[in-house]
Amino acid sequence: MSKPAGAFEKGLAEVADNVFAYLQPDGTWGWSNAGLIVGDNESALVDTLFDLRLTQQMLDHMAPHTSHRPIANVVNTHANGDHCYGNQLLASPEVDFIASSSAASEMDEVPPALLAALVEGAGDGTLGHYVRHAFGAFDFNGIEMPDVTVEFTGHHQLDAGGRSVELLEVGPAHTQGDVLAWLPDDRVMFAGDILFIDGTPIMWAGPVNGWIAALDKIIDLNPAVIVPGHGPLTDLDGVRALRGYLQLIDQLTTERHAEGMALADAIRDIDNHIDSTPYSEWSDRERIVVNVQTIWRGLEPTFASPDALTMFQMMADNFAAREDQP
Ligand SMILES: [Zn+2]
Repeated sequence: MSKPAGAFEKGLAEVADNVFAYLQPDGTWGWSNAGLIVGDNESALVDTLFDLRLTQQMLDHMAPHTSHRPIANVVNTHANGDHCYGNQLLASPEVDFIASSSAASEMDEVPPALLAALVEGAGDGTLGHYVRHAFGAFDFNGIEMPDVTVEFTGHHQLDAGGRSVELLEVGPAHTQGDVLAWLPDDRVMFAGDILFIDGTPIMWAGPVNGWIAALDKIIDLNPAVIVPGHGPLTDLDGVRALRGYLQLIDQLTTERHAEGMALADAIRDIDNHIDSTPYSEWSDRERIVVNVQTIWRGLEPTFASPDALTMFQMMADNFAAREDQP
């Protein structure tokens, strides 16, 4: 039933004895990974999925492992819906939902109904085309989020049926409250969206230096296997690749800002520069428009990024322009 580590097929991959990744190709918008840690008499789940159908499918795959060692703890690595919208299927007085305090607050800010409204209200233009490309495969109706029951800042030690799981807060970076789930005895790292593999990361929160520091923390811990938030299983090479991307766009943005270039021109120029790098092979390239703006915010404290709808419109325009190219 389990597939060897390294495969990027949909389903469970055993990454250490009774530790599993649940992988969802192709890792683009909404196709996130999760994890299962099976202990002596109970299990812990790292993240749920973007909607109830996908989460139920995952729980069915996990049932042979969890039927006698039920899930007692659900860790959400951060607040994005593709890592927590399935929580309600686990809701029970016997189950704790664990997240950093910053992630717990952010979960309240983007309820599933908001995403449902975005998909339904996006219209037939460029934005509608893009939003359906990104989110059209998911069903955001009928989702109700149970409360986080255990909030923490910094560090939280979880006992998953006798197995030690260290929850390390490394945000703000991708979002406000990113957390790594680290199994020191097995050297398995569940990185959440601190790691995207073969896809362009999206930096909603920043600062970029915080994200780079989070990647350095992973490198310091020297995991044997890393489960990224999106994409196939990886090792430290995957961490270094993302670190290289973040460093490059930080440098390119900082240079252009110092030259007095306008933001829109800087985004276009940096996007063109990416063409000549290996990062041009990564999916979801249009996320560059969010990433440059997040770095810009750090360089110019009076600059405020536009609202999420405008960000999606800007990504939609970038995506459409690339689609139109021969
Ligand atoms: Zn994600």
